[in-house]
Amino acid sequence: MPSAIPPSPVWHPFTQHGLNEPIPHVVRAEGALLHLADGRTLIDGISSWWVTTHGHCEPRIAAAIARQASTLDQLIFAAYTHGPAEEVAHGLIAMAPHAPGQPELAHVFYSDSGSTAVEVALKMALGYWHNLALDGVAKARNRILVLEHGYHGDTIGAMSIGERGVYNAAWTPLLFDVGTVPFPAPGREQACLDALDTACAQHPAAFIVEPLLLGAGGMLLYPAWVLREMAAICRRHGVLFIADEVMTGWGRTGTLFACEQAAIVPDIMAVAKGITGGAIPLAATLATAPIFEAHRSTDRARLFYHSSSYTANAIACAAAAANLAIWREEDVPGRIATVSQGMAQRLEQLATHPAFANPRQLGAVAAIELVAADAGYLSDLAPRLRAFFLEHGLLLRPLGNTIYLMPPYCVDARQLDAIFAALHAAGDMFGAHP
Ligand SMILES: *Cc1c(COP(=O)(O)O)cnc(C)c1O
Repeated sequence: MPSAIPPSPVWHPFTQHGLNEPIPHVVRAEGALLHLADGRTLIDGISSWWVTTHGHCEPRIAAAIARQASTLDQLIFAAYTHGPAEEVAHGLIAMAPHAPGQPELAHVFYSDSGSTAVEVALKMALGYWHNLALDGVAKARNRILVLEHGYHGDTIGAMSIGERGVYNAAWTPLLFDVGTVPFPAPGREQACLDALDTACAQHPAAFIVEPLLLGAGGMLLYPAWVLREMAAICRRHGVLFIADEVMTGWGRTGTLFACEQAAIVPDIMAVAKGITGGAIPLAATLATAPIFEAHRSTDRARLFYHSSSYTANAIACAAAAANLAIWREEDVPGRIATVSQGMAQRLEQLATHPAFANPRQLGAVAAIELVAADAGYLSDLAPRLRAFFLEHGLLLRPLGNTIYLMPPYCVDARQLDAIFAALHAAGDMFGAHP
């Protein structure tokens, strides 16, 4: 009797195990390529879910991790510190968005994922108002304003401030109430800003946005002037402005951080994903001096009550330090510009295919909608496309009928050709035929 392969005990995220879809086994990665156990290779068209920036197994980052792993691996971070955490904090403050006349991001709180960086941002915002209320200088505020179609992670607080849908329906009873500002779709920008202005007049604690580009919400873009106005409205009303740069950070939108394009400095900024170049988990929440000062006191009760075991893990911080050095010393913006131009040319060509509509791009992120032949199978179009791309040697993960590309910056012209050839083929296969 041939011995049966025992079923894997691994429970995968965002995976319906009942569908028995193939689960590729990856053994090695380099640059924009994933090598599978069966010998095939895939081009990683979405940077392994938006984290890999320069490329997989970037040598400087890999070396920094190896060095740190045998020097200092992990340290309690409550009232202890280490070199890599200090170095990265200084680096983040220096590289964070600056704008004349606006308060600077001056403090760095570490955590482990985008979701926790966002949770920390919310806790900082409410802690700020709580402590101002203790001082009797302001009323406590606790309402959070969010942008329609937003996504900020999958923990309870992060789900609460994100778009509601099938993906969080089971937990609705646990989610807190928020105020939602309509998305500034083309032609609806002023309506969005007016709604924000009205909502801000009711003294919410903070407004949180993904600057310029809403990722999980469908790769939706809005202009820099709208982002700039949003920040100005919040400032006018004394509402804290929180930028979730978890996905937009580290060059994805063409600049290191998306906020730069609007010349704004948020009061609180969450970063994660590409902070280590995508090699190892780390996140940070940056805050201006007033947020920090509201927690600083001789009173222990006012300290910032948040920690996780691996806060500022030294190996992760060493990887981040290497990533920051790459940004300082190498022409990363040049590489991003090359990828951006390469995608723009090919996207323009793809948009002439009758199956595609609404092409859009910002920096090294491109998206387009596939107009499906049969709207009836729109619901399972994404998994069908995923399987189709896998067969074509491509890791892509469409959002419904929105196909997007977010490759590592080392992706080359030949690989872009292969990606776009597969997109054309997908249009032929699945697209509406006029
Ligand atoms: C991915 C993402 C998060 C969550 O980050 P995780 O590291 O997956 O927890 C939060 N906000 C935005 C905008 C994201 O794209």
